[in-house]
Amino acid sequence: MATSAIYPGTFDPITMGHVDIARRAAAIFDHVTLGVYDTPAKTLVFSTPERVAMAKRALADVPNLEVQEFNGLLVEFARQVGAKVIVRGLRAVSDFEIETQMALMNRKMAPEVEVVCLVTSLQYSFLSASLIKEIIKLGGPSEGLVPDFVTDALRQKFAAQSEAAPVPRWLTS
Ligand code: ADP
Repeated sequence: MATSAIYPGTFDPITMGHVDIARRAAAIFDHVTLGVYDTPAKTLVFSTPERVAMAKRALADVPNLEVQEFNGLLVEFARQVGAKVIVRGLRAVSDFEIETQMALMNRKMAPEVEVVCLVTSLQYSFLSASLIKEIIKLGGPSEGLVPDFVTDALRQKFAAQSEAAPVPRWLTS
């Protein structure tokens, strides 16, 4: 029987750490749906269509992987796409604590869905989307940590944001 998995996250933006987990999941499961969470309780840099488009572009060569946005409960999304497995990535002990709590809560709501955590590859163990955003905002390097088109998209966003924010008059007069 074919086993489908979902790999959910914010992906604001997708990093090579995410790409690595998604590719490894696609090598294990028959089908993987990368789920882009539409309304996380975080301040986002990219809109949902932008996050979906970047994830699609980064993983375009993986035939058994598709990208979809989702809203609401993760277990409902799993049921909706017929997935038996939720894939998550583990970096540090702090991830473990959060993932265990979420996995236990999800199991309570949907005992038929299993959570599988893949341990990060060493070269991405320190990488997070929020850290990359900070580095690029400050003009730092991001080679090998996000796809090049993501670096360009982030630079454009931050340039547009600084242009859009006028200097208040009380500062200049
Ligand atoms: P972030 O924690 O970077 O904001 P998301 O909410 O998009 O990311 O995370 C989606 C999943 O990807 C989570 O399970 C998270 O632990 C995992 N993940 C994020 N970055 C990495 C990485 N560098 N290596 C492995 N897994 C990661």
